[in-house]
Amino acid sequence: MNGEAPYPPMKTYSIATIPGDGIGKEVIPAGQRVLQTLADASERFRLVFEDFGWGGDHYRQHGLMMPADGLDQLRSKDAILFGSAGDPHIPDHITLWGLRLKICQGFDQYANVRPTRILPGIDAPLKRCTPADLDWVIVRENSEGEYAGVGGRVHQGLPLEAATDVSVMTRTGVERIMRYAFRLAQSRPRKRLTVVTKSNAQRHAMVMWDEIAAQVATEFPDVHWDKELVDAATARMVNRPASLDTLVATNLHADILSDLAAALAGSLGIAPTGNIDPERRFPSMFEPIHGSAFDIMGLGLANPVGTFWSCVMLLEHLGEADAAQTLMQAIEHTTADTRLHTRDLGGTATTAEVTDAVCARVRAMAPARSPKPVPH
Ligand code: ATP
Repeated sequence: MNGEAPYPPMKTYSIATIPGDGIGKEVIPAGQRVLQTLADASERFRLVFEDFGWGGDHYRQHGLMMPADGLDQLRSKDAILFGSAGDPHIPDHITLWGLRLKICQGFDQYANVRPTRILPGIDAPLKRCTPADLDWVIVRENSEGEYAGVGGRVHQGLPLEAATDVSVMTRTGVERIMRYAFRLAQSRPRKRLTVVTKSNAQRHAMVMWDEIAAQVATEFPDVHWDKELVDAATARMVNRPASLDTLVATNLHADILSDLAAALAGSLGIAPTGNIDPERRFPSMFEPIHGSAFDIMGLGLANPVGTFWSCVMLLEHLGEADAAQTLMQAIEHTTADTRLHTRDLGGTATTAEVTDAVCARVRAMAPARSPKPVPH
């Protein structure tokens, strides 16, 4: 013993990257570069990436968006960084159910978490809203509800054709997402949760949703919570953004509210999300909320900030809080410089320029890795 503090063991995290389709193929390599830059500067962890070329091209070749044993190939990973699934020549329900939802449901990633803030330098559309007024996290139920996949279609093409999509809610599913949302609200400074509902019109499952919210609330006496109908919630997001903090909503309601949230924060290109298995039985998956954006595919114009922010969430999930904070600060430093805004933000910067700037900032903030002492 020489009296020095023991050198902490270096952790190795195994990360799956799935770029998918469209601009996913541009923003995921950018995200990987940023993560690698953080790992190069870290004395705590290193990253091993494995890339999976699943998506529309895989479907054209093999008739499947991902191989039949795809989940088994991902199972041992610590986290997944996902781009987007969507192809103009393949029906949306095939691209969505064949890849992204297959992973979310197969790994029971039941909490979809979507933070929204107005980052420095971003010109958000609400003229009476300051960045301090808009700091939300939307928790989306991610395993059942309107996207349970239950339903059917009969007599196709005939006048008596019928089709149903049945929303399925279970007590287990609602209880666990409520508990997750209350716990998340409790961990944030304002300890405020809004439960989004539609129990005035949907008088079965949404009434159960409300009842379970009230039951779970008793476990969190320090969380101030209220209930809002989903239609009223859209108006409240626009008119009284500061009255909201954490929101929990069903799969469909939160899908819509979070696109509105992203637009109110300045651009769809900035917003991140995590598909989380809170029990950590399976890898969780992190992705920008935007889609494949075929209109700008291959032009080098995609905003990579949504992916970078998703990488922040990935690092937080791995327990690498310092690296996550470094990356978030590097992102904010970059968005503050309007010369580094991509076209969706009214600028002319390219994906590569924004990525270079974030990597350079990470390098400047994190001291270069010092050589490990040689044991003797
Ligand atoms: P999908 O069906 O896969 O969700 P979509 O085209 O309906 O795709 P998005 O891909 O999210 O929806 O794109 C919506 C609009 O926002 C498009 O005009 C697109 O160019 C723009 N957009 C989305 N993401 C970005 C980004 N990262 N950078 C710049 N523009 C973006």
